[in-house]
Amino acid sequence: MLRLARDAGASTVAWTIDYDALALGRQRALQSALEEAGLRAVAVHDAPAVHPDETAAARSADCGRGYRAFAPYVTAWSHAPRAPVADVPRFASLPLVSEPLPTAHELGTTAPSQAASESHARGALAAYLAAPVLQYSAARNVPAGEPTARLSAALAFGTLAARTVLAELDVRARDPFLLAEEHVALRAFARALAQRDFFLQLAWFFEDAPDAPLQPRMRRFPFARNHPALDAWHDGRTGYPFVDAGLRQLRATGWMHPRARLVAASFLCFDLGVDWRVGRDAWEALLEEDDAALATGNWQWVAGVGADLAQFPRIYNPRKQARAFDPRGAYVRRWIPELRHRPDADLFGGAQAPERQLSLELFDGATYPPPVVEHEAAARAFLRRYGDFMREVRR
Ligand SMILES: Cc1cc2nc3c(=O)[nH]c(=O)nc-3n(C[C@H](O)[C@H](O)[C@H](O)COP(=O)(O)OP(=O)(O)OC[C@H]3O[C@@H](n4cnc5c(N)ncnc54)[C@H](O)[C@@H]3O)c2cc1C
Repeated sequence: MLRLARDAGASTVAWTIDYDALALGRQRALQSALEEAGLRAVAVHDAPAVHPDETAAARSADCGRGYRAFAPYVTAWSHAPRAPVADVPRFASLPLVSEPLPTAHELGTTAPSQAASESHARGALAAYLAAPVLQYSAARNVPAGEPTARLSAALAFGTLAARTVLAELDVRARDPFLLAEEHVALRAFARALAQRDFFLQLAWFFEDAPDAPLQPRMRRFPFARNHPALDAWHDGRTGYPFVDAGLRQLRATGWMHPRARLVAASFLCFDLGVDWRVGRDAWEALLEEDDAALATGNWQWVAGVGADLAQFPRIYNPRKQARAFDPRGAYVRRWIPELRHRPDADLFGGAQAPERQLSLELFDGATYPPPVVEHEAAARAFLRRYGDFMREVRR
């Protein structure tokens, strides 16, 4: 970087802060190296819509520290000043030598690559705000229904700024013809962006959290690193169709619907009792959005080891989740071809119909496996271990 700055004749080097803990360390080293060389180094909080210090300033109890719980954070966030949306500066183009960009293959992904540019991201935002956003409250829960925004990669790579999304959302909310429920959807969408800022400020203020649970007492919880069914989870062959549809969607596209993420993550942590870090790292290699702070924050939240006032294991019943959010099996049928022609009753998986699961007919030569664990029993066994552990640490 130093050489690059010198070659460019720069006196100042500015960059957008990356909240991944490893990157934070590298950025500090870069800042020192630049300053020692007599250059000005400017690190900018460009990724969140609201600067972490703006929300931290609202905390009187713990001056200068971030929030560990979302509920008070979102109140502070909605009152905090947002960074203005400025015009894009003009960049000078310099004839500097650069290594070629890595190919998707070198990055270890097989997912189809997406168009990535500022104009593409702005177009996607405009198209989403035009109409689909008005169904957002349902979209974030129903994977085969209306779409969510699919903006995570654009936000992670900076082709779209979160403050631009919020500014455009404000404009949309001024539409006088909106129904009350459509206003609710717009507020839910803004809240999703607040959630993003929340996890970014968490990574900023609590830097050791990526590998150490934010809850100190949960650092010693004996999550397993392995399970005989771990490969089945990776491949989307757990025998729970809703979980498997999510995992297969991820493998095929580099993205998984948010409701399926919750259920598949919960299945790993509680049905299999496997460490949340194993799941996070597995998905990091597959997800199109490379955002370590958001991955860690969400995985810790599901596992019940991270930020929140009331931390507890978020155990989702994969059968009930499928009934509630994919009642006609459209999502499951989309991603699990073996089940495409099965009756709805076969699509919920788990304890209710084990014999039917085992006797599923072959479809195009492929069989769908029986459940790798019995959900109710596995969840109860986990809760017993969790209860014993909590009693132990409280002593
Ligand atoms: C176990 C688990 C792991 C996750 N890992 C990641 C990850 O690695 N990277 C990532 O960007 N998101 C992650 N998420 C959050 C969320 O699922 C994705 O941001 C969302 O699915 C992206 O799709 P979208 O743009 O259509 O989202 P939408 O629902 O349309 O939301 C719009 C934007 O709001 C933000 N957002 C929404 N929900 C969340 C959330 N729970 N946390 C933080 N930001 C949110 C995202 O930037 C998203 O692009 C994870 C969630 C879970 C439960």
